[in-house]
Amino acid sequence: MRILIIEDEERMALTIQQLLNTQRMISDIAPDGETGLDAALSGIYDLVILDVMLPGMDGLEVMRRLRAGGGQTPVLMLTARSGVPDRVRGLNTGADYYLTKPFASSELLACVRALLRRPGAIRADSLSFGDLTLSVETGVLSCGAESIQLSKKELELMHLLISAAGTPVDRETLLLKAWGYDNMPESNVLDAYMSFLRKKLQHLQSQVEISTRRQIGYCLRERGS
Ligand code: CA
Repeated sequence: MRILIIEDEERMALTIQQLLNTQRMISDIAPDGETGLDAALSGIYDLVILDVMLPGMDGLEVMRRLRAGGGQTPVLMLTARSGVPDRVRGLNTGADYYLTKPFASSELLACVRALLRRPGAIRADSLSFGDLTLSVETGVLSCGAESIQLSKKELELMHLLISAAGTPVDRETLLLKAWGYDNMPESNVLDAYMSFLRKKLQHLQSQVEISTRRQIGYCLRERGS
């Protein structure tokens, strides 16, 4: 799962990012409205946390253009203002929820969890494919009585593969969703991670394997199917 934080105040943005980190949620920071809007429209984010007070294009305008551009990602809007008219404007432009600064860490996390549970942004606690079950919360991958801990990146990749339910996921999507725009590694890093995951599947004695689709990407397949 990836969350986009659009906030110009660096300290606030980093505080939110660290808070999300404690919940194993990966996030990227966009420091202004233009950059944020571009990133939000990429479709790789499961949630956008959007500050209203931004230099240049403000949060309300980002919100309006995001929805006008067809972006359906849930948006949690942050504001220092507590005036009712602003809240109404925010919700009218398509924000899903409003949080007024200052807020408690627990309050922000509760909103994030609630928005990620909404239909269309479903992030189930556990996902299954074949004989595999992945706990998204803990990153534990299980098969029958066996289980193994996945690293953060392995968890992201396995989550994407299981969510695709056997259809191929292209390399670019895997790289973007697991690493983000700013940290895109060399393409062969992806192959290395797939090889780690394959070893873990072998260790679990799973009937599921990771299949390579040349020129496309990767998918899960049940042996014998
Ligand atoms: Ca701000």
